[in-house]
Amino acid sequence: MNYEQVIHTMEKQKRVALVAHDNRKAALVAWCEENKHTLKRHFLLGTGTTSKLIAEATGLPVKGFKSGPLGGDQQIGARIAQGEIDMLIFFWDPLEAQPHDPDVKALLRIAAVYDIPVANNRATADFLISSEYMNGEYKHEVFDYNKILEERVKNLSK
Ligand code: PGA
Repeated sequence: MNYEQVIHTMEKQKRVALVAHDNRKAALVAWCEENKHTLKRHFLLGTGTTSKLIAEATGLPVKGFKSGPLGGDQQIGARIAQGEIDMLIFFWDPLEAQPHDPDVKALLRIAAVYDIPVANNRATADFLISSEYMNGEYKHEVFDYNKILEERVKNLSK
């Protein structure tokens, strides 16, 4: 369907969500340590265990939510839907099944819906963090959800 779009501006200071599955946690922590100088200019948040490990290793403040399998992925997804997160660094494990696989899928889906940049691995995270948009405003088009809602109510109440 062809939905109307509105322009949304990401501020200079990004709200960066950090999530890693157990086998990928060390890689994400190492990446955060290496990029500490850039990350310290942004607002960091993450799932329970990941956020604690990153805060301990880097000394940076990281707002923690619940652990992923206990609802943390959903909490982060909800904040994306509310427009409270600009970027998702999510090192998910491609080699091991997760008990909360539906939540993982939901988080990736909602990030796609809101045109949030997502890094699933180190190479993508490196490209994102070295982007000029990281340190400036970024304007992008997102679906106009108010219009979509109005249209749906109009069409479905006929
Ligand atoms: P955790 O959750 O940071 O609490 O381990 C991550 C996840 O599995 O989504």
